[in-house]
Amino acid sequence: MNRFEKTLTEHDCTLQRGALITLQLNVGRKCNQACRHCHVDAAPWRTEMLAADTAARLQDWITTHKPAVVDITGGAPEISEHFKTLVKTSRAAGSRVIDRCNLTILEEDGFEWLPAFLAKNEVEVIASLPCYQPENVSRQRGNGVFEKSITALQTLNALGYGTALPLHLVYNPVGPTLPPSQSKLRAEYKEALRRDFGIVFNELFTVTNQPIARFAEDLRKQGMWDEYLELLANHFNPAAVDGLMCRDTLSVGYQGELYDCDFNQMLDLQIANGKPLYLWDIAPADLTGRAILTGNHCLACTAGSGSSCTGALA
Ligand code: SF4
Ligand code: SF4
Repeated sequence: MNRFEKTLTEHDCTLQRGALITLQLNVGRKCNQACRHCHVDAAPWRTEMLAADTAARLQDWITTHKPAVVDITGGAPEISEHFKTLVKTSRAAGSRVIDRCNLTILEEDGFEWLPAFLAKNEVEVIASLPCYQPENVSRQRGNGVFEKSITALQTLNALGYGTALPLHLVYNPVGPTLPPSQSKLRAEYKEALRRDFGIVFNELFTVTNQPIARFAEDLRKQGMWDEYLELLANHFNPAAVDGLMCRDTLSVGYQGELYDCDFNQMLDLQIANGKPLYLWDIAPADLTGRAILTGNHCLACTAGSGSSCTGALA
């Protein structure tokens, strides 16, 4: 039994899958950035990407099963040559579609089509912006990222994002700390971005850094690994357990393989039933009631106010 499971037991909490709401597709590891905290280890030099035959099988599944939400992530998901067809197929199936966008991709050569495409297809944009001040963003995501992100947000605003179309921002701490109060920080972001750049957005999602991949390497280098895990464990919040995203989200890798969440995907905790399962092996109802694969990293989802792809939980 891992430390997360022990903690659940001590608090009389149970965790299993419920009905599927969100199909989260990770279309590959390639990204135009290589951020310090990235849980995907994404970077421009990564080559693992969704292939055409797999994309076709994912689209068939979406057309047949019509998930309520299709959440497309990466890397920078827009780099996938199948991004547009995935969006169009999902919209045609009646799904709400989310693009997990790093903003700077909108400023890259060859992506001039992207903002208008997102708006035309009413794609919800969830965009990373770890601070409203340039220094902190540069520290975590690289030089020039803040300025490009601001320009991209202004472009999205001009197309109706933040008013007629949903535009949400994601904050995660620069270092090994828990995020501050989501509602307080949202108010600060709203005020600063409107005052300094005329930018509007809808929600701010605060996300706790997962102790995996590049962030885990950073923790180990700084000798902070044990301390960070203690921080997460000591702030366990049972009120966050009911809202954990692994209850209603299914994470799909670029080869069609299945996981309980994107973090488990990075740890190769693949869902199996005697043999590893792929999206085309299952129907949504097969998942209900299944046990969720967990590890000590799960403590990041239940610490403080809790954490998920849509922010705080409790
Ligand atoms: S955190 Fe996002 S933008 Fe940064 S490298 Fe990872 S996938 Fe790319
Ligand atoms: S890391 Fe994944 S499996 Fe673990 S609690 Fe968080 S969402 Fe659930």
